[in-house]
Amino acid sequence: MLQESILNMSREMVGENIEKCKALILQCEEATTRRRALVHKLIQLRLRLQEMEDTAEVASTGVLVQLGHHLQPQKPPLSRTSKQYCDKCAHIIWGVIHISYFCSLCEYRCHGRCVEGTVRRCASAVLAEDPTYILRICPEVGLAAQNYKCAECKRIITNKSAWSEPRRCDYTGLYYCPACHWGSRVVLPARVLHNWDFEERGVSRQSKQFLALMRNRPVLNLQALNKHLVKFVEELTTVKKLREDILLMKRYLGSCRAAQETRMLRHLEERQHFVENAHMYSLQDLVDTEYGVLVPYLQRVHHSFSEHIKTSCLVCQGKGYICEICDVSEIIFPFDGGVVVCDGCSTVLHHLCYTSRGSKCPRCVRQEARRKQETAGGQGSAR
Ligand SMILES: [Zn+2]
Ligand SMILES: [Zn+2]
Ligand SMILES: [Zn+2]
Ligand SMILES: [Zn+2]
Ligand SMILES: [Zn+2]
Ligand SMILES: [Zn+2]
Repeated sequence: MLQESILNMSREMVGENIEKCKALILQCEEATTRRRALVHKLIQLRLRLQEMEDTAEVASTGVLVQLGHHLQPQKPPLSRTSKQYCDKCAHIIWGVIHISYFCSLCEYRCHGRCVEGTVRRCASAVLAEDPTYILRICPEVGLAAQNYKCAECKRIITNKSAWSEPRRCDYTGLYYCPACHWGSRVVLPARVLHNWDFEERGVSRQSKQFLALMRNRPVLNLQALNKHLVKFVEELTTVKKLREDILLMKRYLGSCRAAQETRMLRHLEERQHFVENAHMYSLQDLVDTEYGVLVPYLQRVHHSFSEHIKTSCLVCQGKGYICEICDVSEIIFPFDGGVVVCDGCSTVLHHLCYTSRGSKCPRCVRQEARRKQETAGGQGSAR
């Protein structure tokens, strides 16, 4: 309600209201409901003023702001071979005749005359509000539930003519008119996640633009969404192991000056989330896993990290472990194959040695024994 009234104010009015609001707050007693409401209003007014100033700034550069889009005026397309179409009316954009605009945030493109009639919010604004996927496979409700209207522009859609045929979007499950659904085909996150199915399917323009922006975002927690997937897809098991190893290695590299100077962790720059955790995936990660790109990439990173820690850097080498059970002088690391890391004390042991001792860590066993002795001793002296 408040928002609505602020939205209709001119810039001057917003400025005046900010001053009024400030004065009223000063007259109010601390910690009253009225004061809180005024402070809240002041925040909203300030945000609105900022928004208006931003808009004014882009307006002075020829950029139009419409529903979150930052529409830049376009020069005529250079080549005649790649045709461009308007996202609003779906007609062709003739560079020489038409003024057109292009949103650099979501790649929405339209005729100058179509800017005002734009109904699609910028995908970047939608994403900023809620960067999550619909994870039900094509959640269709049916044409009748949509009143035979396009889910986006609300035009009537019927099978009577090709111009108004209903087209289903595999991402939202909704039907669209041909102007809002051009038959673009993409990989769907829900199908990948539930069925490991990478077949591209038809989606609306709106979905296509949203999915393109989401593609590299690490928003899929495989463990929580479908834990069986990692078990059944062999490559994912490999990816998971490599990522876990890399996280272990990151601890070494993070505290090694030589590694920092050569910026080793930069190897993972293009997939920053791999440095942060081992369970979040972007849709692109999954596509790359399926197409055999991700495993070799991670193996390369794994190899160069491991080479630094185990071979070329004395500082990192010095932080390795010697198996306490067999005590051979081989230095082992938590990311080596055939070792276990103790949950209790983080020491590293050969897997075979560990199981030969009934899967008990000698260091923890010793500590436990000492603690028991101490408590027994302590009780004795108290008596
Ligand atoms: Zn946009
Ligand atoms: Zn148009
Ligand atoms: Zn439509
Ligand atoms: Zn090092
Ligand atoms: Zn051992
Ligand atoms: Zn232990």
